[in-house]
Amino acid sequence: MRQTLTFIPTLRETPADADAKSHQMLLRAGFIRQNTSGVYSFLPLGKRVLQKVEEIIREEMQNVNSVEVFLPALQQAELWQETGRWYSYGPELMRLRDRHDREFALGATHEEVITSLLRDEIKSYKKLPLNLFQIQSKFRDEKRPRFGLLRGREFLMKDAYSFHATPESLDATYEDMRQAYTNIFTRLGLNFRAVIADSGAIGGKDNHEFMVLSDIGEDIIAYSDSSPYAANIEMAEVNVTYPKSVESPKAMEKVATPDQKTISEVAAFLGASPEQCIKTLVFKADDAYAIILARGDHDINDIKVKHALGVKTAELASAEEVQNLLSAEIGSVGPVQLPSDVKVYADHAVKSIVNGIAGANETGYHFINVTPEQDFSIDQYADLRFIQEGDASPDGQGIIQFAKGIEVGHVFKLGTTYSEPMEATFLNDQGKAKPYLMGCYGIGVSRVLAAVAEQFQDDAGFQWPIAVAPYAIHLVPINMKDDTQRELAEDLYKLMKDYRYEVLLDDRPERAGVKFADADLIGIPVRVTIGKRASEGILEVKNRRTGETFEWQREELLDRIQ
Ligand code: ATP
Ligand code: MG
Ligand code: MG
Ligand code: MG
Repeated sequence: MRQTLTFIPTLRETPADADAKSHQMLLRAGFIRQNTSGVYSFLPLGKRVLQKVEEIIREEMQNVNSVEVFLPALQQAELWQETGRWYSYGPELMRLRDRHDREFALGATHEEVITSLLRDEIKSYKKLPLNLFQIQSKFRDEKRPRFGLLRGREFLMKDAYSFHATPESLDATYEDMRQAYTNIFTRLGLNFRAVIADSGAIGGKDNHEFMVLSDIGEDIIAYSDSSPYAANIEMAEVNVTYPKSVESPKAMEKVATPDQKTISEVAAFLGASPEQCIKTLVFKADDAYAIILARGDHDINDIKVKHALGVKTAELASAEEVQNLLSAEIGSVGPVQLPSDVKVYADHAVKSIVNGIAGANETGYHFINVTPEQDFSIDQYADLRFIQEGDASPDGQGIIQFAKGIEVGHVFKLGTTYSEPMEATFLNDQGKAKPYLMGCYGIGVSRVLAAVAEQFQDDAGFQWPIAVAPYAIHLVPINMKDDTQRELAEDLYKLMKDYRYEVLLDDRPERAGVKFADADLIGIPVRVTIGKRASEGILEVKNRRTGETFEWQREELLDRIQ
């Protein structure tokens, strides 16, 4: 491509309102532009990188027999009502009405759509397993869109969904997908860890996040270099198991918990008295509620409340603050006591054991009619505690370190969470109707681009790894008015294209300084400068990442790239 014919609006200054290194550099180097909060346009270079990332993902998906589809972003509310997520998903779901006043959502995720699609088509175990993926824009009205592409409101996701007749089949696909994800992030050159993401309903082995280690990450992971153990610290408790009867709830009933605003409202909804919730403390956390377990023998000053009461986020809530807020909500409260070693599950899981209410380990859901000791073994919480830096890893093989991580991928087993309420069933080999077992697997494609951009840059610009670089070679004739330089550049440009190299030719009538600054900003791995020595057939070849330069004859260059 000729630079005069494409669109690369580079900036000399760092944009003041860009809050992450990747965001700043993507703007400066002319890869993206912001349209409005959390919404971006990809310019030609950004689009090329995005496509490279997509292609790596596609190849690895195809390697594990995941097949590409394309599902609608515009989704009728009825689908989301079937699973209850229309009510529980909250304000992150973008909703709209058509001219007939029918309600719709813009796809934040596609479990409902794909489950409804398959339930009408796949009726026999003989047609399972099936693993489908798509690459598509997702819409989430994030409370705080920020860091550019890292947390957008419209963003590109690869999402895959697998359908199975047996748990063994789901296990096998889950392992394949985990391996595919490892391959993808390795090929992208990212420094990442696969971490246990949830110790919830079906166990930590069934839910993993892929985290890129980065100071800008919004999650904290606990890991060790000498042990395979790694976990999101939200979930990094030791010895956690789930209520015994979750797989076969008897009287327990899972109910969607809508957006209650106060403790009294939550309590009323759960059929408990506010007083019963005192010991459980219902915390308002962003838009979700978290209930934490209180056993009455701990000092609240010790507790780490990550998102407490909406007043502080990621800070400790003091006993006094909690008590004041509780008092304001439900009247006078006696001394508040909480265990020092129990965490608040803000976004995902909610756990409690209070007179018949239990967290369902799923945002927006609770179990009611729970019988402590029968459905929950209280003892299992005795060992519940946070992992700390310097602890031995649970497998005893290493020492725990903490690091910030960017969640670039997430794989988990859904089981029948969607197929059951949506009555998506197949006939098994005995002719019995069973809900599909499902897995789902996401990668934030545009977030991955930003994570790579975060990692591969220096002060002057990007240093794209070849796997995702917008072009492989940047041809820079210093003076387009010089016939020898121009002709040699045109000759190389043509040859390189013939060899199927992706090459960008800086044919602009700009000064050398401008061209070099732009070339460094854009960050193509190899720069070939055609300058004064063009008359001797000599070119300067520069490795953008290492800064090494070589003077090569035209023939030598061509030999090397043939
Ligand atoms: P986060 O915890 O960062 O909000 P999530 O857990 O809500 O992410 P998932 O529902 O697991 O996200 O979606 C799959 C993947 O989509 C994530 O692992 C992440 O890479 C990407 N993703 C999620 N939200 C965004 C966003 N707002 N902008 C860009 N990518 C996103
Ligand atoms: Mg999210
Ligand atoms: Mg997450
Ligand atoms: Mg996730």
